[in-house]
This record gives sequence, C-alpha cells and structure tokens, in this order.
Amino acid sequence: MILDRTIARMLPAVPKPLVQMLAQRYIAGPTLSDACRVVKTANAQGKLATIDVLGEEITRDDEARAIAGAYRDVFETIGREGLDSNVSVKLTALGLKLDYDLCRENLESVVGEAARRRNFVRIDMEDSSTTDDTLRLYRELREAGHENLGVVLQAYLRRTLDDIRSLADLQPSVRICKGIYVEPPELAYQGYDEVRSNFLRALEGLLDAGCYVGIATHDDWLVSEGRRIVARRGLAKDEYEFQMLLGVAEALGDKLVRDGHRLRIYVPFGEHWYAYSLRRLQENPKIAGYIAADALGRFVPRRNGSA
Ligand SMILES: Cc1cc2nc3c(=O)[nH]c(=O)nc-3n(C[C@H](O)[C@H](O)[C@H](O)COP(=O)(O)OP(=O)(O)OC[C@H]3O[C@@H](n4cnc5c(N)ncnc54)[C@H](O)[C@@H]3O)c2cc1C
Repeated sequence: MILDRTIARMLPAVPKPLVQMLAQRYIAGPTLSDACRVVKTANAQGKLATIDVLGEEITRDDEARAIAGAYRDVFETIGREGLDSNVSVKLTALGLKLDYDLCRENLESVVGEAARRRNFVRIDMEDSSTTDDTLRLYRELREAGHENLGVVLQAYLRRTLDDIRSLADLQPSVRICKGIYVEPPELAYQGYDEVRSNFLRALEGLLDAGCYVGIATHDDWLVSEGRRIVARRGLAKDEYEFQMLLGVAEALGDKLVRDGHRLRIYVPFGEHWYAYSLRRLQENPKIAGYIAADALGRFVPRRNGSA
C-alpha cells in the first residue's frame, strides 16, 4: 500500500509519452473505429462490451456537448456494425462540473438516443465530490421514465450500503466496483480486506433488492466469491454479469466466459486519454518496475548498436 501511494504520487511526473506507451493496452485508441475493432474482437470471443468516450478533462460547454454528440455516433456505429455493446458515460465529461442542467441535458440526449436504439447507458461513478449529484441525476432521469439507465456504486465508500437502501425503490441496474479515486478515511475504507468485505455486503444487498448487478473486478478472490453468491441464489446467467477493464486480467475473464458467465469488457477510446491512463497505471502491480526500467534506460547510456 505504501508503495502504491508512492507510485500514485510520482505518476504525474512521468513524461506523457511514456504514460501513453505504458497505458496502450488499456485504451482502444484515439478513434471510434479503434473502439469498433476492439469490440468486434471481444464479441468474437463471446464477451459483451461497454464503450466509453474519454472526456473527463473537458473544461468548456461546447466540449461537453461534443462528447454527447460522440456518444450518438457510438450508437450509430453499434447499430451499423451489429456490435454487442452498450455505453458508459462519465458525468464530468458531459459537463457536471460546469453546470448541472447542461449535464442533465447532455445525459438525456444520450439516453434518448440509446432508447431509440433499444440500448443502455451506464453512468460511471467518479470521485466523492460527484456522488450526490450523480445519484440525484440518476433518480431524476429514472423518475422521468428513462428505464435504460444504470449506475455504479463503489465498495470503498462508507455510504454505499445506505445508497443501496435509498435507491432500492428504483430497482436500479448497478455496477459494483471497489472504487479508484483517492478518498479520505472519513469517507472511504482504506484497508484491502475492508473494501473486499464491503464489496460482498453491497453485492448481497443489491441482489436482495432485486437489482441486476455488474460484478466489476479483477480480484480473483472476489470473482470466486461472486460466483459462489450467484450460484447459491440460483441466478440464471442472464440475471447478472461480470465486468472487466480492457487490457486487465484477460485469463481470468476468458475462464469466466468458458464457464458460461456473461462478461462485459469496458472499452475506452478517444483523445482525452491521460487521466484514465494514470488511474490504470496506478493499479498495475508491475508499474513501478516499468517506470524504473525506463528511468534507468534514460540515465544509463546505451551501447553502440543496441536497439
Ligand atoms: C468494468 C469496470 C468498470 C469500472 N468502473 C469504475 C467506476 O465507475 N468508478 C470507479 O471508481 N472505479 C471503477 N472501476 C475501477 C475499480 O473501482 C477498481 O479500481 C479496479 O477494478 C481495480 O480493482 P479490482 O477489483 O480489480 O481489485 P485490485 O485488487 O485492484 O486488482 C486485482 C488484481 O487485478 C490486476 N489488476 C488490476 N488493475 C490492473 C491494472 N490496471 N493493470 C494490470 N493489472 C491489474 C492485478 O493482478 C491485481 O492484483 C471499474 C472497474 C471495472 C472492472
């Protein structure tokens, strides 16, 4: 954990081209056709997908509107290419930090387009400064009749079990994940085992409330526990799904598919790749080694003729 925090602190100092190179495996590429190619490969392997237009670094209204427009293009491509994919959106990319009403308008346009195409939109959950607004907007749109909308809850947040209780009347479709943002101890469990335990409590709570759950983790132990819980409840394969990020734990994902579980791969694409890349690198247990090797390469002169 101490090593993790040190790496998290030093990552912003790593040169952008190196971040981009190390993070390549986590991102489909800069364009929609990159995402389309990656989703086709996942579909051919029996995996579903969720496409994310990267954009959380935007700072202007027109950029937020452009991201909403990019999602309409994503739905067009999903339809034209026959992809088995829904979409995931970050509310900050749709303007949450600029203006709540702008964000709502953008989200409604994405969800409306999804409904016309019988598709589905999942709202990602970002740092704790956005949790209240995200859940408020989720409720507002559900109460306005948008059924094709799901949300994410983070097992590290102390409030999550309360959030499950207060959302229960909506029977929401929920992705449960550990949570990736750096949060203070007053708000979030900090211990590895505490987060795991709360993940399972949240999973049970969501299933008790009759929710469709996306079990989003690459943690071997949580995947086994998740499998045990859905088997004990006798859930059919279309009553839950597992979810994983592009470029992470592929062997574990392949095994889930071989064993007949639904698995959805999160496929991000776009020009705004930096913040997402930093978060993925921060979680990669091998990242310290890669960065050290690169730094060493830059400080130790290469011999003539070496590549
Ligand atoms: C589909 C999906 C959607 C998500 N959406 C959100 C969201 O909306 N909001 C949010 O806060 N978080 C989200 N997350 C991130 C999540 O909160 C965790 O930060 C992330 O999944 C790592 O936690 P873990 O459960 O895999 O457990 P960990 O203990 O972090 O990882 C388990 C094992 O997986 C492998 N691993 C994990 N990450 C990497 C990596 N980057 N590179 C290489 N190996 C790795 C390692 O072997 C590690 O030991 C999402 C995750 C997934 C899978």
